[in-house]
Amino acid sequence: MSAAVDPGFGRFAPSPTGPLHLGNLRTALLAWLFARSSGLGFLVRMEDLDRVTSSPEHERLQLDELERLGLDWDGPVVRQSDRFDRYDHAIEQLESRDLTYPCWCTRREIADASAAPHGAITRYPGTCRELSRDEVTLRVGSGRPAAIRLRADIDTELFFDDLIAGRRRGRPDDIVLRRNDGVPAYNLAVVVDDDAQHVTQVVRGDDLLSSTPSQMHLAALLHHASPRYAHVPLVLGPDGQRLAKRHGAVSLETMDASAEDVRGRLATSLGLSEPGERPTTEELLERFDPARLPRVSWTVDPGMVCTTAD
Ligand code: GLU
Repeated sequence: MSAAVDPGFGRFAPSPTGPLHLGNLRTALLAWLFARSSGLGFLVRMEDLDRVTSSPEHERLQLDELERLGLDWDGPVVRQSDRFDRYDHAIEQLESRDLTYPCWCTRREIADASAAPHGAITRYPGTCRELSRDEVTLRVGSGRPAAIRLRADIDTELFFDDLIAGRRRGRPDDIVLRRNDGVPAYNLAVVVDDDAQHVTQVVRGDDLLSSTPSQMHLAALLHHASPRYAHVPLVLGPDGQRLAKRHGAVSLETMDASAEDVRGRLATSLGLSEPGERPTTEELLERFDPARLPRVSWTVDPGMVCTTAD
C-alpha cells in the first residue's frame, strides 16, 4: 500500500501594514482559487518582519477583510515575527559554508555603482563581495552596521515555468539575508517559511517576478524544493500607475460597495463573471481555469475607486 502524497499548500502572505487594497484582495482571491482548485491546502502568513510598519491591528483588519471576501484557510495564521530563530538558523547554515559576506553599502552607493538609469537598482554590483582584510577592518571600524548578503556565486540564468507569466529566466543576485538593523530580510524569510510550511504553490504579485530566480537559488542552497509560481499582473489605478492608497477608496472599508459586490467585480476582472453578477467563492471555484486568466494588468475603473462610503 502506498502512502498518500501530501500535495502541500498554497498561501497568501500579506504584510500587515494597512488595509488590503483591491490589488491585494484580487491576488488573495486568485491564490485561494489556485490552491483549492488544485486540491491543495491554503495558508495565510503574516509577513510582519518589519515591526515599525506592521501592527496587530492591521493583521486583524486584513484577516477580517479576507473572511468578508469569502476566503477560508487551514490552520493558524503564522507570523514571521515569531520565527526569527528559524531565519537565524538558516543564515548560520549559510555562513558556515562561506556563502555569505558583510555589506556596508547604502542604497545610494549601490545605485551609483550600478550606473543604472534613474538610480534604479536591478542587481547588487558586488562592491563588498571581495573586500580585502584591511578594507573590512576599516569598515568595521567605521561603526556603520553591516547587512549580510548571500554569495550567490552563479553566472548562469535559472529558468522557471510560471503558471501565469509563462517561461521566465533570470540570474540569481547576492540578495540581503539580514538587514543592517539586524532584521532577517524578506527574501530569506519567504524561502525558509515556504519550505517549513510545505508550500508547493506561490501566487503573488508580478512585482516579485524578478526576485524569483534569487529565491529559487537560495532554496536550492538550503536543500529545499522550489514551489510552482504564479505571478499575477499588477492592478493599476485609473491613471495607469500601480494601485495605491492615493487613488482614493481602494479597500473594503472605504469603497462604496459590499464585500460581495467587490468579489463580483474582482471576478469580472478575472474573466470569471459577467459585470453586475455576484458569484459565491464556490461558484468561482467551479468556473476557475488558470489557462484562461488574463495575462495583462487590470486597470481599475475610476467609478470603482473614487467614491467613499461616507
Ligand atoms: N509579503 C509580500 C507582499 O505583501 C508578498 C511576498 C510573497 O508572496 O512572496 O507583497
